[in-house]
Amino acid sequence: MFYTPIYCCGCKEDVNAELVKGKEVYPHRKDLCDLYFWRCPVCKNFVGTHKGTIRPLGCIATKELKQHRMGLHDILDPIWKSGKVKRAKLYKQISEYLGYEYHTANTKSKEEVDKVKEFLIKNYL
Ligand SMILES: [Zn+2]
Repeated sequence: MFYTPIYCCGCKEDVNAELVKGKEVYPHRKDLCDLYFWRCPVCKNFVGTHKGTIRPLGCIATKELKQHRMGLHDILDPIWKSGKVKRAKLYKQISEYLGYEYHTANTKSKEEVDKVKEFLIKNYL
């Protein structure tokens, strides 16, 4: 078994995440069975990995937080896709606003997601 410390948004602390195959977290998704995921041993939430690696995509999110992140993408993506601003520049602006490097996959709470939404609505919508 492989373990690595990753922040778990469900437990609100770093946990010793275990490396598992897709078939353990998505038993009905044959297309995902060979992919790797890091799973929290306490609350069993998990995060995917960058393709071809075991590098986590971000912190471990709960189902609710994943929903909030999707809602954020629904606002965020059309802004840069419209060509109003380049994607890299938009992410940089959000990072400056937050005071740390922004990645949606690293957001840790609904409050953080809401803060980014508020910034986007104020500046772009
Ligand atoms: Zn957890």
